[in-house]
Amino acid sequence: MFFRTLSLFIAFILLFIQSVYGQSVRAIKADIVTPSGSQTEFYVRLTEKPAARRVSFLQNPDRLVIDLKNMRWKAASIHHKGIIQRVRYGVQPGNYGRIVLDLKGKANLQSFDIVPHPREKKMWLMVAKLTHQALSRPKKKAVVEEKKKKGVEKPRAELPFVEKEKAAQKKKSFKFTSDHKFRYYRKRPGEVLVMIDPGHGGNDPGAISVNKRQEKDIVLQFSRELYEKVNRTSGMRAILTRDKDFYIPLAERVALAQHYDADLFISIHADALNDKSIQGTTIYTLSDTASDDVAAQIARNENRSDIIAGVDIPEQEEAVADILIDLLQRETDGYSHDLAEQMITHVKRATKLMNKPHRTAGFAVLKAPDIPSVLLEIGYLTNPIDERKMIDYKWREKFIGEMVIAIKKWHLQRRKNLL
Ligand code: ZN
Repeated sequence: MFFRTLSLFIAFILLFIQSVYGQSVRAIKADIVTPSGSQTEFYVRLTEKPAARRVSFLQNPDRLVIDLKNMRWKAASIHHKGIIQRVRYGVQPGNYGRIVLDLKGKANLQSFDIVPHPREKKMWLMVAKLTHQALSRPKKKAVVEEKKKKGVEKPRAELPFVEKEKAAQKKKSFKFTSDHKFRYYRKRPGEVLVMIDPGHGGNDPGAISVNKRQEKDIVLQFSRELYEKVNRTSGMRAILTRDKDFYIPLAERVALAQHYDADLFISIHADALNDKSIQGTTIYTLSDTASDDVAAQIARNENRSDIIAGVDIPEQEEAVADILIDLLQRETDGYSHDLAEQMITHVKRATKLMNKPHRTAGFAVLKAPDIPSVLLEIGYLTNPIDERKMIDYKWREKFIGEMVIAIKKWHLQRRKNLL
């Protein structure tokens, strides 16, 4: 009897915790206070205490990014004051509500707290206190103009803000060694730039079928056709990491995507598996641990690509192991996941998928912290049925058509999420 009561009690506690932390947090009021010319405080009244939060500064332009778990923005727009130029709100993967404070310049976060509201019962108050250089009073004319704009301003249809600076940082430190022909390319607003990466190449043939077909050739053909199709689609652009038979070190494939500031990275493969009966398209995304043995096997083989090709892996600068990279990677992982799911939804209309078609493992080529990346096994060269499909133009055309629709949908969804 005692144990039954106890277990009921525990169940009740768990339910209670779930109801407290699982339900949505509404931000119902926001305010900015400027105690002095060099201090700006940002207040948000919340209906619940968020179960998790992430706070970080981003640069160019300067902004403070606040992610709160399960938060939905319900507050009226506020008059901007102090160092805060604008307040934006968006939704992030993992069910985070994101508040972006666009700043007029550099600032320090003096404190960040979520505390019980001092006056309103059952309410919470988020307080972010910023210190900065003393601001001069804005000129009258500027204030009027700001007000005029405010009414009609729509969410910025801008490319992801987090991407740019990281890409710029990487660009500086990376030494490119492959035969990739660099092109000057300027992205048009709203355009989605797809980096297509045909796997292997040169000294690394990848998998080889019983009919002596090589993965590097199969995936290059597929990638070229995908490239053509993307470039024929309005609002989309593609770049190939390689358009000929040469090798590119794995880290360089990632760096190329960053160099071009790509919106997404797709590595195309047609690998071998120990079990020759396995067939069907599979899509892989990055994770620390492999989802299963097949994913582990593929990742192991792929990550050996540099060794097989015989490249000296150049000493690359250590990735900055800061909280910002972590944050960025987590955000990117969410988008990579979404992309994989969207691909599956569409590609299954064109071809047979492997069972559990979305798998994860630690692929070196998917490690751009700022660019959503997937590795697509269009099929397995060890399987004769897959091999026959992959050399069929009609099959590829249908497959690629569905891929392009998936990318487009994913991109639109993502733009909605990033204000
Ligand atoms: Zn491969």
